[in-house]
Order: sequence, then structure tokens, then C-alpha cells
Amino acid sequence: MVLAQLGGTITRAIQQMSNATIIDEKVLNECLNEINRALLNADVQFQLVRNMQNNIKRIVNIDDLAAGHNKRRIIQQAIFNELCNMLDPGKPSFTPKKGKTSVIMFVGLQGSGKTTTCTKYAYYHQKKGWKPALVCADTFRAGAFDQLKQNATKAKIPFYGSYTESDPVKIAVEGVDTFKKENCDLIIVDTSGRHKQEAALFEEMRQVSEATKPDLIVFVMDSSIGQAAFDQAQAFKQSVPVGAVIVTKMDGHAKGGGALSAVAATKSPVIFIGTGEHMDEFEVFDVKPFVSRLLGMGDWSGFMDKIHEVVPKDQQPELLQKLSEGNFTLRIMYEQFQNILKMGPIGQGQEKESQAKIKRYMTMMDSMTNEELDSSNPKIMNDSRIMRIARGSGRQVREVMEMLEEYKRLAKIWSKMKGLKIPTRGDMNMR
Ligand code: GDP
Repeated sequence: MVLAQLGGTITRAIQQMSNATIIDEKVLNECLNEINRALLNADVQFQLVRNMQNNIKRIVNIDDLAAGHNKRRIIQQAIFNELCNMLDPGKPSFTPKKGKTSVIMFVGLQGSGKTTTCTKYAYYHQKKGWKPALVCADTFRAGAFDQLKQNATKAKIPFYGSYTESDPVKIAVEGVDTFKKENCDLIIVDTSGRHKQEAALFEEMRQVSEATKPDLIVFVMDSSIGQAAFDQAQAFKQSVPVGAVIVTKMDGHAKGGGALSAVAATKSPVIFIGTGEHMDEFEVFDVKPFVSRLLGMGDWSGFMDKIHEVVPKDQQPELLQKLSEGNFTLRIMYEQFQNILKMGPIGQGQEKESQAKIKRYMTMMDSMTNEELDSSNPKIMNDSRIMRIARGSGRQVREVMEMLEEYKRLAKIWSKMKGLKIPTRGDMNMR
């Protein structure tokens, strides 16, 4: 995904800036210009990029940067917040409730992945115990009903459609009524697309929407449409009350910045992303984890940066050597957590949250044996050990498992270091 490159470029731009001896307006501007270029390259709309730059300039106080504060973190935090704001329209979308009937209508251009996404959405909920159903109100594309039928049959989801009826409104209403009677709690209506935005498509969408009165209209957008994203999303929003966005094909070479534009244009959140052609290649979209991954925060580059910041200089070579051999143990994680806590939060809510989490993890690790702490084989953590640790630390089994997941995630990043040269401060090309 090209969005990852965007993250890399932004991180490098911040790094370069914080390497400068004096941070003045000029250096900050250079950094922000570099970030703007990266965002524009990722197909984020020009106006959004300009707004972001202005906001950062308003927030970041140049005097704070000069006074020896941690410049990288201040700027990174400001960018993090801005990107989160861009992706978070400030109000959640309608959330269907299990056991209570909701009608969800899907709209989007032909080829955006709408039909595939309808099935993925149904399948995702079915696995969680819902009773979904699919209605094919796409009478425009020959073969649309067959495709939906095929997908639905594979996932064992009830479906409704017609080979002969040409009125999409009639099919949609009949389908919704049928499944309401069957007490389905998630009735998904797939509508027609067109190759390009045109009046007939919007008129049809409006009619289906008025007749079925959906609780939520989801706009499905192909992530590879680039700079056209904003206008396209806006055109849909102007025709029907879009309440959520799903961005598809995030697994491909798409730049993905269109997702940011679609949120801005529809003032609706991205709720899922499509990451492949298969039914289960579908992920819940969460703004904060997404942006922190994008910026490499809590990720490989961020972690290295933390090591340079918090580990005493004389211990750095030893630790980095251990890392390059790939022996990442829970004890190393524990020691790094200690170092991170010593720094204290810089005040923002997100940082405080993660500090609290680190403390929780450490309490659980306090209940571990030396054997467990020094092993780099996660397989030794069997159910009885996990239960013992949970009991010993007064935590839930779920939480211990979450901590072990975090360990595995870091261990994976770590193992990538094997054979790589040990980085020095400022060397951010190792992601
Ligand atoms: P529709 O015309 O909008 O209903 O689009 P379809 O559901 O028929 O999808 C168009 C093509 O995109 C199909 O070949 C799908 O398999 C593919 N597709 C849909 N979602 C994704 C995705 O998230 N990743 C990838 N790689 N392909 C997808």
C-alpha cells in the first residue's frame, strides 16, 4: 500500500527537521512543504493539505521547538492529530444493533467493489452471530444478480433478486419486506452502479433510498481513483444522505489518500476497508491505530527512535546487538517499557493512554517466571501459564493474551532486523 510510503516520507521529513541545529520558521516550513508534497502524491485533496498545513502552523509553537523540547515528538503529535481529524468527521456512523432490524444501502460506481463489499459486510456480521440478508437491487448490470447470488450462496447468506423484474425500487422494497418478515437483523441492499456519475444513477439511488428508508447508506469507493475521490464522494453525498464510507482495494497499488478526501467530502467516517478479493479480506477501520501505523509511531522506526532517546548511550550497542540477533524476549520488552515510562507522558491523551497500558502489561509480566521472561519462543505460553499470570496479576485472561499479542507484534518487527545494519540516530531508511 502506497500509504505506507507516505508514512515513511513524513517520518523522514520530521527526522530531518529535528536534526537541524536551529529550528526556525524556515526549517519548519521546509518540513511542512515536504509533508505536503507527500500528501499530494498520495492523492489527498489539495485544499485538505493546505488546511492541514495551516492548522499545524497554528498549533506548533516555534519557540517550544527552539527551547530544546523534543521537537520530533511535538511535530509528530501535531501531524498525528491533524491526520486523525481529517479521517474522523467527529460523529460516528449509525451502528446497527444485533437482533434489531436495520436496512443498510450500498452505493458506489460500477467496479468500485460494491457487490463484493456487500457480501463481505454481511459475512463479517454473520460470523459474529447476526442474521444478515442480501438484496440485489442492481438491475442495470447484466450478471449483477448472479454475482450476488454466487457470493451469498458461498457464505450461506439468504438473498433476494430477480432475473426478470427491471424496476430496482420494486425489487428493493420486496426484498426488504421479505427479510423483515424473516426477522433478519441486517438487510443489505446492493444498488446499481454506473461507469461514471450520471443523472440516471443518482435518480435511481434516490428512489431506492426513499422507498426502503435505509438506516444507513454506505458509499463504497475504490482506493485507486486518486484525486477524483473528493468530487466523486461529494456527488454521491449530494444525492443521498451517505452516512459511512468503505474504501476498497487497499491491498493494491492504490495510494489510498482518497480515503481522507472521501471522509472530508461526505463528513462520514470510514468504517471498513477492503484488503483483497476474498470474503474475509475486510478490516474494521479505526482512525488512531491506522494513523499511528502510517506515521510509524509505535512501529519499527518509532521504536528505534525511542531506543535512541531513552536507553543510556553506553547500553545502546549491547541492546542493538541483541536486537540484530533477533533474540527478542519478554524481558527485553519489559526493560524497554521501563525506559519509556521513565520519560513520562508529554501530556496528550493518547500518550497517557498508552502509558497506562504499558503499566498494565508490566504488572502482568511481574507475574511471569524467569523462564517465561527469557524465552524467545512464544509457544511456551500455554493456557495454564496464561491463566496463572492472569490470576497472579489480578487481570483478565483476555488482557494477558492482548499483552502477548503485542509482544509477538514487536518480536516480528524485531526479527526483521536480523542481518540489517545497526541503525544510528537519524537513519530512518530501515522500515
Ligand atoms: P461492483 O461493480 O462495484 O459491484 O464491483 P464488484 O464487487 O464486482 O468488484 C469489482 C472487482 O473488484 C472484482 O474483481 C472484485 O473481486 C474486486 N474487489 C473488490 N474489493 C476488492 C478489494 O478490497 N481488493 C481487491 N484486490 N479487489 C477487490
